[in-house]
Amino acid sequence: MRRKTRSIKVGNIFIGSEHPIIIQSMTNTKTEDIEKTVNQILALEKAGCELIRCTVNNEQAAYAIKEIKKQIHIPIAADIHFDYKLALLAIEHGVDKLRINPGNIGSKEKIKKVVDKCKEKGIPIRIGVNSGSLDKDIEGLYGVTAEGLYQSAMKHIRILEEFDFKDIIISIKGSDINMTLESLKMLEKKVDYPFHIGITESGTFLKGTIKSSIGIGALLLHGIGDTIRVSLTADPVKEIEVCKEILNSLSLRRFGINYISCPTCGRTETNLIEIAKKIEERTKDITKDITVAVMGCVVNGPGESKEADLGVACGKNSGVIFKKGNVFLKVKEDQIVDTMVKLIEEY
Ligand code: SF4
Repeated sequence: MRRKTRSIKVGNIFIGSEHPIIIQSMTNTKTEDIEKTVNQILALEKAGCELIRCTVNNEQAAYAIKEIKKQIHIPIAADIHFDYKLALLAIEHGVDKLRINPGNIGSKEKIKKVVDKCKEKGIPIRIGVNSGSLDKDIEGLYGVTAEGLYQSAMKHIRILEEFDFKDIIISIKGSDINMTLESLKMLEKKVDYPFHIGITESGTFLKGTIKSSIGIGALLLHGIGDTIRVSLTADPVKEIEVCKEILNSLSLRRFGINYISCPTCGRTETNLIEIAKKIEERTKDITKDITVAVMGCVVNGPGESKEADLGVACGKNSGVIFKKGNVFLKVKEDQIVDTMVKLIEEY
């Protein structure tokens, strides 16, 4: 159901409909602080980040890219606002992708310099249109609307295409989900470039997670989105966890165990919340593609557990464990977590 898009190479990965939806994030360290930046990227890699963006807002940041690249394993994108010299410097120092709007670079000569260098090194450019920083001329004509966002994206695309440059990824981030979706729907009819999607400035962990999940989820359900970034006012590692859960929930990708657990109710006779939390925590690094159900009673529990590869229906002082829908074992309450963890590890 994904919209068909061309494949764009970014370092050692590809973005496009022929490839899995790529998870990305952005560092919040000073890029020129190499040690801190590398440490954060390594933590993000470990969490599952597949592409990292760093701000390149000064020459030191551009120089740092070279050293950072030696110590990380995922492609790195440079976020540049309008300074073409920083773009050139970042490319020279090994960046794998640029995020820059060609319409903001200035003269055609300057744009050509950046485009030529990108062509020479095989580096793609992401055009990023935001409702908060729409070009004044476009805003004057269309206002901050879906049409305005679409026209702005087309303006930047045309500039690159004039130079016969088609290694493009596009993001449009409107102030609300509908506006974003409408503009991307207009754009998808005109171009086959991959889309980077996300909800901008979505907020702190809980609010941001909900807003991003709804927004990104709605776009993905329309088949739109080849790479996602969840923006949270939180540790970027959290962004990766949320990205993975969004893709897991829509069955667009599978990251390890699919956990099912009941919300608990008056029938619950155990501390199910603790049991479910402990099982999840102790098996979170296991990457097996299995479904594990942790249910709170022997009335409805077995039904749900039957759908899972491994399940437990917890009753008073004990738990009935199911394997592929069949009763497998009955254990005492204090043995439920250990037994489930062991069975998951051995599965
Ligand atoms: Fe309640 Fe049992 Fe359903 Fe859990 S599985 S919510 S304990 S009825």
